[in-house]
Amino acid sequence: MKRIAVLGATGSIGRQALEIIDASSELDVCALASGSNDLDALAAERGVEHVQVGGDLTSLLDESEPDVVLNAVVGFAGLPATLWALERGVTLALANKESLVAAGELALAAQERGGGLLLPVDSEHSAAFQCLEGRALETVDSLVLTASGGPFRGRTREELEGVTRADALAHPTWRMGPKITIDSATLANKGLELIEAHFLFGLPYERIEVVVHPTSVVHAIVRFRDGASLAHLGYPDMRVPISYALTYPDRASTPLDGLDFSQGLSLEFEPPDLETFPLLGLARHAGESGGTYPCAFNAANEVAVAAFLAGRLPFLGIAGVVAETLEAVDGAPAADLDDLVQADAEARRLAESAAGALVP
Ligand code: NAD
Ligand code: MG
Repeated sequence: MKRIAVLGATGSIGRQALEIIDASSELDVCALASGSNDLDALAAERGVEHVQVGGDLTSLLDESEPDVVLNAVVGFAGLPATLWALERGVTLALANKESLVAAGELALAAQERGGGLLLPVDSEHSAAFQCLEGRALETVDSLVLTASGGPFRGRTREELEGVTRADALAHPTWRMGPKITIDSATLANKGLELIEAHFLFGLPYERIEVVVHPTSVVHAIVRFRDGASLAHLGYPDMRVPISYALTYPDRASTPLDGLDFSQGLSLEFEPPDLETFPLLGLARHAGESGGTYPCAFNAANEVAVAAFLAGRLPFLGIAGVVAETLEAVDGAPAADLDDLVQADAEARRLAESAAGALVP
């Protein structure tokens, strides 16, 4: 029996994870956490004693002693749980990409000390992990991450001037929490994923490419040095990568169907429009600059997305706030967690003031 701490249990990933765990005789929930939603019903149904709403989740993890931490908290708030698992060598099933983006080097150093598994839940990274598994890094030429392009694919900047919260929340292929849905509409999500992939797989940024693939059937492609490419395909359903991470290395069965080719299946790809969606380029630049630039990119983006969702910032202002913040921070590397928390706070302060100046 694998005992799983489900962090972010009331969210999109958390609820789908509970569905997988409840259907399995080999998986059990040992702890539940959320940001603000009440967990009493979820805990009572499953007889879970270790429950926490908000705050630092590390004491919950100390008490519940999980075999696997499923980190499906949204945002930088997921960082302590990520570091807790990596430091102790407890298997980390990571949906909370923001923590790895913000704390990449510190997280990898913690994993090195802890010696445990870091299993991506993000669909593209789960796909890439599966294509790369067991293969020497020197045989890899490059990694291709696919992006759906979001609800605004094909639009120009002018056409995005008046878009509303509801327009931006209407994602064409995935049903997800509000923050990542906005990130998908701006392509910031793919920017975060680019940085996430760099830390997960140890590839330099120039060997990680992003392509737009509107139907989200191909999740990732790895090109090898002999000219062969391996791709991972499936209908867009997060229960597949969640189940893979929770049951690794077993790959348990799920109730989901494999692809049906009998009706024909065409796969279309196009380059991303970096002019209309500048956050992808800003993320690449932040990643390449290193230090705490990725942390600042993430922090500014969190602030800007919250402001957009609250109606305090126009859609195009999200990229404006992030660009301005990245110009203003020093990006110096963080020697420890205190440094990183400071860099995050400073970027948030700068982003709040940039957003304040852009009130619609
Ligand atoms: P969501 O908004 O639906 O859920 C977020 C969960 O985190 C909620 O349970 C919320 O209560 C909890 N939470 C928020 N702040 C918290 C805090 N301070 N402490 C503890 N819990 C807190 O978000 P989601 O769509 O499920 O996404 C969760 C994470 O997974 C994000 O990092 C996202 O980028 C990533 N992800 C999501 C999807 C998807 O399909 N939804 C796909 C890939 C990656
Ligand atoms: Mg993804």
